[in-house]
Amino acid sequence: MVSNVSNTNLVPRVGFVSLGCPKATSDSERILTQLRAEGYVISPDYHQSDFVIVNTCGFIDDAVAESLEAIGEALAENGKVIVTGCLGAKSDIVRSAYPDVLAVTGPHDVDGVMAAVHAHKPRPHDPYIDLVPPQGIRLTPPHYAYLKISEGCNHRCSFCIIPGMRGDLVSRPIGDLMQEAEHLVDAGVKELLIISQDTSAYGVDVKYRTGFWHGRPIKTRMTELVDALSQLGVWVRLHYVYPYPHVDEVLPLMAQGKVLPYLDIPFQHASPRILRAMKRPAAAEKALTRIRAWREICPELVIRSTFITGFPGETEADFDELMDFIDEAQLDRVGCFTYSPVEGATANALPDHVPDDIKEERKARLMERQADISAERLAQRIGQQLTVLIDEVTPEGAIARSYAEAPEIDGVVVIESAKNLEVGQMITVRVIDSGEHDLWAECVTEHP
Ligand code: SF4
Repeated sequence: MVSNVSNTNLVPRVGFVSLGCPKATSDSERILTQLRAEGYVISPDYHQSDFVIVNTCGFIDDAVAESLEAIGEALAENGKVIVTGCLGAKSDIVRSAYPDVLAVTGPHDVDGVMAAVHAHKPRPHDPYIDLVPPQGIRLTPPHYAYLKISEGCNHRCSFCIIPGMRGDLVSRPIGDLMQEAEHLVDAGVKELLIISQDTSAYGVDVKYRTGFWHGRPIKTRMTELVDALSQLGVWVRLHYVYPYPHVDEVLPLMAQGKVLPYLDIPFQHASPRILRAMKRPAAAEKALTRIRAWREICPELVIRSTFITGFPGETEADFDELMDFIDEAQLDRVGCFTYSPVEGATANALPDHVPDDIKEERKARLMERQADISAERLAQRIGQQLTVLIDEVTPEGAIARSYAEAPEIDGVVVIESAKNLEVGQMITVRVIDSGEHDLWAECVTEHP
């Protein structure tokens, strides 16, 4: 065991066993430094530790045996063990010998170890250095919050420069995300809005590695994340999802009421030729077939999307394909932009740029067609009862949203003639009227 480096009585206390070569020792030093920086106490004794980290070696058979023995000893003496290091890269060996270890991470994975540590014993609160509340400082109202699950993007859409600015996809450890989500819910958040550049790609960069939340293994993957978030008892809304086949997996969760039946999918176009020129992810997927299948699984699914008109090379025939898609897809809400070149985007070099007046005219035609579709779909809600979350209280009643409306980008539910409503309250309303973007409703009952 690593010797004590603190004589304070602060919890949590971490036992640490460091095996292996100098590179492993250096990894141990980084982990110990991070633990101390976050206020954990390093304990010299198995029995006084809240859990034990074993940094293993897996170079030769003898080293594997020694590492397995050290894990076994820590489990026998303490019972809670996080395994890291070279043997951790062969997690099947560790798990088949000791299925009860809390987490297994590979070598040089300080972030993975810290995520496992946070999942089992959250970082201690220090009033002298913790100037922010556990849920962080947020710019959104107290009843909803954005949860950013990754940074960067592995795609190279020709009109976009985000990957050049922010780099490739880096998924946040699932244990950290769950802890942040829990803090937000504890602080009163009723709706979590999942954001990223490509939510459906979550975990691809870490090969969907297993993380931990309250000692439970969870894969770093969209479906598993959504399923875990659904256990927090708040609305979970998915933004920036691409129509990959694996997105099908979240539809049953929506049908079961675990996650809001709402998908924000930036299709951007429907002509295969333009989608290829845009280098869009999932361009080859059959979007219409997919949407139909999703609606069969979850008929109440609401889809919002965005499109670009006048992308370089877009012909009238391409635009007609887009209009046919708009007719067939019957999306609930749509935003539309005219193409404009961004400095550094590869699409700038494409031939056949579309004149501005044609871009604008196509956008107007698309939005006109969509306005009818959106209005019709909203009109179908008249008479329905909906659960809504109140965003704003007005002198007459309130402005609220149901599962079908994301804040800031979609319409609202206007509640007229109601008293004593509060921001952040969830109530049931009956829809009495509809427009192109918004619904009007009357109160039915309050939710507990
Ligand atoms: S537009 Fe394409 S490249 Fe840009 S962030 Fe989105 S998916 Fe990634």
